[in-house]
Amino acid sequence: VAGELGNKLGWEIYAVGGFVRDILLGRPNLDLDLVVEGDGIFFAKELVKKLGGRVKAHNKFKTAVVILENGQRVDVATARLEYYEYPAALPTVELSSIKMDLYRRDFTVNALALRLNPDRFGQLVDFFGAERDIRNKTIRVLHSLSFVEDPTRILRAIRFERRFDFQIGGQTMRLVKNALNLKLFSKLSGTRVMHELQLIVSEEDPLACLNRMQELGIMEAIHPLLKLHKERIQVLIELAKVHNWYKLLYLEQSVEPWKLYFLGMTMGIKNTQIKQVTDRFHFTQREEREFLQLREMIHEALIQLMSWREGKSKLSRLYSILHPLPVEGVLFLMGKSRKEHIRRNISQYLARLRDMEIEITGNDLHELGIEPGPIYSTILEKIMAAKIDGQVETKK
Ligand code: ATP
Repeated sequence: VAGELGNKLGWEIYAVGGFVRDILLGRPNLDLDLVVEGDGIFFAKELVKKLGGRVKAHNKFKTAVVILENGQRVDVATARLEYYEYPAALPTVELSSIKMDLYRRDFTVNALALRLNPDRFGQLVDFFGAERDIRNKTIRVLHSLSFVEDPTRILRAIRFERRFDFQIGGQTMRLVKNALNLKLFSKLSGTRVMHELQLIVSEEDPLACLNRMQELGIMEAIHPLLKLHKERIQVLIELAKVHNWYKLLYLEQSVEPWKLYFLGMTMGIKNTQIKQVTDRFHFTQREEREFLQLREMIHEALIQLMSWREGKSKLSRLYSILHPLPVEGVLFLMGKSRKEHIRRNISQYLARLRDMEIEITGNDLHELGIEPGPIYSTILEKIMAAKIDGQVETKK
């Protein structure tokens, strides 16, 4: 449909980027990116007239996001014709705009396009040897200033390398090391680094990426306090195991991987220094407050867990230690703890205690004639504790 519409408007339409790469790799990818050699926003609006759905246009960037009625998202970008004027009366050259669009991308494997217009539907547009790189399993930049232009591409290179089990090419690796020597990371905006790190920890195997980052000294290039030393890597390995275990068992209750791994990455940093890190990542005041609070709560919980004894201490005490924590905090404690019985009991907490409920509510207490006040939560907590310890039973 997109190709036919392109023909009607007299524009070339291409599918580009990860979508095309993943077709060649035989991997599923539902994020469709289109490039229009014409007016992307106009095209997006016409597409919605044909297929239904809605459009959100960004006039400044000449891009649009289409959400089709079935929920499928299509990003539409505009490739402008660019004219290169040569000095000394050489003729002006009109470059194919799709070529310029692809040239601005990060790696050859992401710089592929697929023609969608009916006459040449499915024709692969490969200016930079991407097909060969995919065959040779290589991540390669398009030009030697690529990492200078945007150092976050180094993190992207690692992410794609590990995800597809590719290798960063020889020359590209030299450029990575060069960029690190030039300390390009230290100038990079914290928000952008954080975004890329978030993508890394959301990968299937974040540890593979984190190990590669350690090898290249990337975390310490972002901030010296973030060096991925052995002890941190060890805990991160455990966190990854716990995270995978949790994802398998509790599909419906999601974890924010970023929160979990960030706790591991910043482990051992003193309270007096942690602000340097949150500032480096441009945390908002609220994000900073929440993160510091979480660290504090984990610290408290760790101390209390040390004196909790299986068989001797009450389960309700375990509940009161863990219940105030968000799930990322509970999983962190589970990953960090070396003691088998603590891990086992935390998993028991997640399986049985976390979602336990009692039947009695404030209304019942009211009906009993008890004056409303803080006493209500004390009573309800006591009933919950008695239920956890098997002293009373309630229907729920
Ligand atoms: P994923 O499978 O992780 O979604 P993707 O290739 O679709 O991978 P996106 O982050 O959605 O990645 O980016 C879409 C496209 O935009 C990429 O294929 C790439 O061509 C381009 N791109 C993204 N980030 C950069 C960047 N920092 N520099 C250059 N090009 C980029």
